[in-house]
Amino acid sequence: NSISMNEPLKSIKPTLDVPTVHVDIKRDPKVQIARLKLPILGEEQRIMELVNENEILIVSGETGSGKTTQIPQFLYEAGYAENKMIAVTEPRRVATVAMSKRVAHELALTSKEVSYLMRFEGNVTKDTKIKFMTDGVLLKEIQSDFLLSKYSVVIIDEAHERSVYTDILLGLLSRIVPLRLKRGITLRLIIMSATLRVEDFTDNTRLFKTPPPTIKVEARQFPVTIHFNKNTYSDYLKEAYKKAVKIHTRLPEGGILIFVTGQQEVNYLVRKLKASFPYRKDVDYTKLITKKTVNDVDPALDSEPEDIESDDDEVEKEMKRMRKARKKAKQKSKQLPKINLDDYDMPEDDGQADLVSDDDSDGHLSDSDVEEDTLAPAIKSCRQPLWALPLYSMLGSERQARVFAPPPPGARLCVVSTDVAETSLTIPAIKYVVDTGKKKMRVYSHATGASAWRVVWASRAGAEQRAGRAGRTGAGHAYRLYSAAVFQHDCPAHYEPELCRRPADDLVLMMKCMGIDKVVNFPYPTAPDKIQLRLAEKRLEVLGILEKYETKKFKKKNAEEILKVTPLGKAVSAFPLLPRYGKMLALSHQFNLLPYAIALVSALTVQEVMTGKADSWPATGNTLLLGDPGVLLRAVGAAEYAHVKGEEELFCAKYGLREKAIKEIRKLRKQLTSEINLSVSGANVTIDPEMKPPDDKQAKLLRQLLLSGLGDQVGRKIGLDEVKDGEDKRKFKYAYHCSNLEEPVFLHSESILRKSIPEWVVYQELYETGGTDRRKMVMRNVTAIEPEWLPIYVPQMCNLGEPLSTPEPRYDEASGRVKCHFKGTFGLSCWELP
Ligand code: ADP
Ligand code: MG
Repeated sequence: NSISMNEPLKSIKPTLDVPTVHVDIKRDPKVQIARLKLPILGEEQRIMELVNENEILIVSGETGSGKTTQIPQFLYEAGYAENKMIAVTEPRRVATVAMSKRVAHELALTSKEVSYLMRFEGNVTKDTKIKFMTDGVLLKEIQSDFLLSKYSVVIIDEAHERSVYTDILLGLLSRIVPLRLKRGITLRLIIMSATLRVEDFTDNTRLFKTPPPTIKVEARQFPVTIHFNKNTYSDYLKEAYKKAVKIHTRLPEGGILIFVTGQQEVNYLVRKLKASFPYRKDVDYTKLITKKTVNDVDPALDSEPEDIESDDDEVEKEMKRMRKARKKAKQKSKQLPKINLDDYDMPEDDGQADLVSDDDSDGHLSDSDVEEDTLAPAIKSCRQPLWALPLYSMLGSERQARVFAPPPPGARLCVVSTDVAETSLTIPAIKYVVDTGKKKMRVYSHATGASAWRVVWASRAGAEQRAGRAGRTGAGHAYRLYSAAVFQHDCPAHYEPELCRRPADDLVLMMKCMGIDKVVNFPYPTAPDKIQLRLAEKRLEVLGILEKYETKKFKKKNAEEILKVTPLGKAVSAFPLLPRYGKMLALSHQFNLLPYAIALVSALTVQEVMTGKADSWPATGNTLLLGDPGVLLRAVGAAEYAHVKGEEELFCAKYGLREKAIKEIRKLRKQLTSEINLSVSGANVTIDPEMKPPDDKQAKLLRQLLLSGLGDQVGRKIGLDEVKDGEDKRKFKYAYHCSNLEEPVFLHSESILRKSIPEWVVYQELYETGGTDRRKMVMRNVTAIEPEWLPIYVPQMCNLGEPLSTPEPRYDEASGRVKCHFKGTFGLSCWELP
């Protein structure tokens, strides 16, 4: 009957809010035409049905199919931004800005409504409806508003990049979404990725109990012919330049996209290409250019699949062809006006120091390009300008936007880019891809946790993505500047997620600082090793960076012990190093010793700095007790001074220092200094080329700093009375007990501390020497410490009298002394402090 018909249905499954308002948009007709060509437009209805009916949706699709620009618009039109905002996260800054601008433009809205937010920059207003942000920024927001109550939808874009922040976000969101559902205010999560390893999200019961629905957007992809080089040359920039010249002078119209590794390389190549094929505003190039057609094309470039150059025959042929072309050009064309170098639009320097670039030291950027001569005739006879544009992450947003605009009439577009153009940004009308096969990747040192950008081979999956950029609007060509053998053997299939490449101590501290307490149980998309995580937690506890904390939520019986970050830990986390070194730097900052500590940590990171004896660095007092790190520190300081005077090579040879190691230390010192100035307020460190060796007082403080960071690696001299009868006592001259090994460990044969054989030491690392029969554990980089410093700097390692109960050293009134034990294999050795 009518009454029961009107009664609301009681559903058991909580219902999801679905907006009821539809928002009308007055799009520019041109925008609308361009949109309709995107494959994702055909899927709008299917996508929106899935969004309305589910909290979580995975969208995978070819790069350029329209995921990033269109899905936020679908949601906006469907009313998802009416009461709450739509969030879109990007792992790269360049995409964050570019995409917010593009979406604003397509929706005919302003940056007030479609805005972006990233560290140090943003334009969010109270009217913002769609908010593009870097993944790190959303992570920060979760710390103050766990339920993300400002948002109706969170889109995690470029999930395949597996940035550490994106991975952690996904883990958190997998729990936040059901929590929001319980509260009756739906939060939707859309995970967007290129078609790479989507299984990590779809078949992942850690993340999602039941696999979320997945939609794959098929994009039309034209065939791309892949050309490998026969040989792989180390100067890939020169190769890239040559290939671009050949394409431009010999192949039909179509944009060129060149992949190199960093900002400096991009700017260098752009400048060079512009100088070779300049563009002038006052010339009408459309009249000058005789269109090349496919029939004119030198078959070497278009049909030989292996390579377009390299053997001498080929070069000879090409020279002939170029000479001919030049003659022809001379006869046919009008004389071009003379060009003044200042006339063209040179890329101005952004003033952005490329902290991480190692371009200048590798000599790529030298202008003495021998083979350029062979290309010169072709360059001269080519009258078509090359509209060369840079693209990299730190590029200003206006200059970034230029890659999307068509080049001026008659000019050919050529974008020189880092791997941001691999999947984040799609440049229209690219027909030729030139791929150096390299990329810059953050590589972590497991010794210090310092990360450095290294140029490495891009993955095979990455290379496929790059090649695919040539087939967006028609058949294309991808020129790989390396051999097929390199592709097969040197390029990895994929890269491991960043989260698994980071050292565990670093990761644990980062997560604890974000308020993620149970790092072992966290639902990682790809889990790092559990044992490593636990060990890291323990180490951090010993160093006072984490401390025990009992949760009150549970009944006393199963009270859970959780390690939380201490105030010291908070300070340590600002330093871009493994927490133990971060702790040393944080404390050194308080002692005004930061420049020394930075130099010291940089030196400790590099292996085998000294090839000679430490004898050339005589020391006494605290300077001697500072031990091997002290020798390193003085060597680095002196080498820097020699470097400034241009005498580094001589100096290194004279004092037995490995020159390459010294150079690497310099690079690290620079990088650390600038990163610390950025991340630690009030640091303002500079590198003083005339840094004096630490004086006696400073050397003592440095010994304490080393203890503060290495306090879980303490050694105590084995007394001769401890040597068992029958053992050769002489063998134990340099032997120590260490805090975590049963067997004795020894002072390194080159250690300067062999001169004083101190009672108590800390060491940087242990290593094994000798064959199976003469195996010995040796301590590297050893510093003498005073035992009374132990309860101050590593109280967690110390226990008071008997029984060993509380961690703090206790003042014993009867004797007027502080008593404590040191844990470890010599746990019973009690000593008294004055
Ligand atoms: P996906 O996220 O699936 O890789 P995008 O949404 O980034 O795809 O790109 C869809 C299309 O929009 C591409 O063809 C791209 O060239 C175009 N596009 C993106 N940004 C701009 C822009 N600023 N100007 C012109 N076209 C753009
Ligand atoms: Mg995208």
